[in-house]
Amino acid sequence: MSAKIIDGKQIAADIREELKAEVAGLKEKGIVPGLGVILVGADPASQSYVSAKEKACENIGIFSDDNRLPAETSQEELLALVERMNNDPKINGILVQLPLPKHIDEAAVLLAIDPDKDVDGFHPMSVGKMMVGEEAFLPCTPHGVVQMLMRSGVETSGAHVVVVGRSNIVGKPVANMLLQKKEGANATVTLCHTRTKDLGHHTRQADIIIAASGWPNTITADMVKEGAVVIDVGVNRVEDASRERGYRLVGDVDFEAVKEKASMITPVPGGVGPMTITMLLFNTVESAKRANGID
Ligand code: NAP
Repeated sequence: MSAKIIDGKQIAADIREELKAEVAGLKEKGIVPGLGVILVGADPASQSYVSAKEKACENIGIFSDDNRLPAETSQEELLALVERMNNDPKINGILVQLPLPKHIDEAAVLLAIDPDKDVDGFHPMSVGKMMVGEEAFLPCTPHGVVQMLMRSGVETSGAHVVVVGRSNIVGKPVANMLLQKKEGANATVTLCHTRTKDLGHHTRQADIIIAASGWPNTITADMVKEGAVVIDVGVNRVEDASRERGYRLVGDVDFEAVKEKASMITPVPGGVGPMTITMLLFNTVESAKRANGID
């Protein structure tokens, strides 16, 4: 039987509609959530991510303060801009698009962001709070994965989740979120990486597989238990001469074969991707509510 496709675009659109209504309610109280966006340099991929984030803000009524700086911007200038945003009451969230140019210390810049405005959830304070289960801004892609599972009716409590990939932006945080003692979590989590012996042995035990390795076909059909739920975070370019741009995007999962074994699966594109920006909007609205003492 072919798996149910988890439609990330639809789930993201539903959450954005909910946020739009919340933003309209806040506006009636005179509150306009604001996102400060900083892009250093002219990397085309970063430019298109930042434009997409700004457009998404505009669509739901969040004000965005757009700062596109030249590649030669010094660390001091960047830190001064972050500090200005930290002190600006109109700004509820600060987004520094990564990667930064090599002469800038990324960790120092992330550390300079006021944790109360850390809507990307990368500040060590946010990471630590998430780890101990305190209220914190959750990093957007892993939070998007958790929301997709919840909104697709996937039971995580008591489920065995196998996460493939241990990066700080996807693998570790999603593993951590799913083992928390709370609704939408309570899973038994196995975290795999390149030193894992016999990856398939682990993934075949999984009720839920979360693939975040960054390599096509990391998860093939023989590695998946019949009826498992498969979430594919990967975004990889593979050559495709039939496309005008010469490539197409695929995930980390052999989608065509795995969908015949899984009970639910996310496609690439159109799966986890649309959730990431949506959760950034969610965090920005959350931050505006917290700043104004609204639950
Ligand atoms: P990353 O920093 O490169 O980390 C990849 C992780 O996967 C590493 O921990 C690595 O292990 C592990 N790994 C790689 N190959 C493996 C294999 N064959 N078996 C087991 N583990 C393996 O990547 P990332 O930033 O987490 O991103 C992962 C993927 O998600 C990428 O395709 C990225 O483009 C995509 N992504 C998508 C979104 C979105 O919005 N949809 C957001 C972020 C990332 P080691 O630690 O041992 O090296």
